[in-house]
Amino acid sequence: MSNKKLFIYGSIILLSFTLGGPFLALLALLAIIYYHKKYVGQTNETSTYGYGDKPYKDERKAECPSCHKELKKIPGAKTKCPHCGEYMYVRTNTENIRLVITKSEADKIDEKWRIENGTQEAYLAEQKKVSARRDALKKKFNGKEPSENDVQWSLLNEEIIEHSSNAQWGLYSNTRRQMAEILWKEKRLKDALLMYCMVCYLDLNGASNVITDENGKAIRDPEFFRPFDVETKFLAPAIIKRMQKIIKELEITKEDFSELFIERATIEHRATKAPVPPKETLKELLGEIFE
Ligand SMILES: [Zn+2]
Repeated sequence: MSNKKLFIYGSIILLSFTLGGPFLALLALLAIIYYHKKYVGQTNETSTYGYGDKPYKDERKAECPSCHKELKKIPGAKTKCPHCGEYMYVRTNTENIRLVITKSEADKIDEKWRIENGTQEAYLAEQKKVSARRDALKKKFNGKEPSENDVQWSLLNEEIIEHSSNAQWGLYSNTRRQMAEILWKEKRLKDALLMYCMVCYLDLNGASNVITDENGKAIRDPEFFRPFDVETKFLAPAIIKRMQKIIKELEITKEDFSELFIERATIEHRATKAPVPPKETLKELLGEIFE
């Protein structure tokens, strides 16, 4: 328990004693014990909740794991050490102990968790795919190292082709959203906005995914599957917010936006054969964005 907390608890008991005698002081003590056990004890000291049967321990220290110099406060998440400039990571390991550690130690803990969760194989397969694509792009760029976004973009483009040939418009829309995210990160705001327009158009059409039978084969019978189900249409609030931000920053008017949307949605309308024409989805989208 910290000195500050001890001081506060002591003061409360002393005050209760002065004001109401030993009975009130005892009552205050019991209340403090209850409060401390319930709300405070868990975050710092060993407590009962935790992973499996391993008790949770917080062993984070106000010390850089690389240069071992003292820090002003205990890191709560990834932060840069003010002394050596190295990043410090915060993880709970598979023994359920929370630590402040270096990048390589954090990587090891992440791997242990993946093995524990059974996701390690999928992770390695994905890493292999990414690295193969990086090599291919490097060749294409005449030996110049591609950026992380170049690699992701190239993989997403491939996903677009795959989802569109399978009529998986829900997944397709999701991939478009990830592409918009990359454009946003690269500060290509107008391109990001156009990509979000495509996502909204598909989502307002209720883009859904092909269902598969027990052998993983797609069921294409129109009685069971419709590539678009307008009854499930939606607009994601996070996307609307993002679009509002871009529109504000680029000072795009409602009229200009409408034009951009119709242009983009028309391309998607032709490519996907979505049932609701762009003009009909525009009104709903405008209502959300320019409310
Ligand atoms: Zn350091």
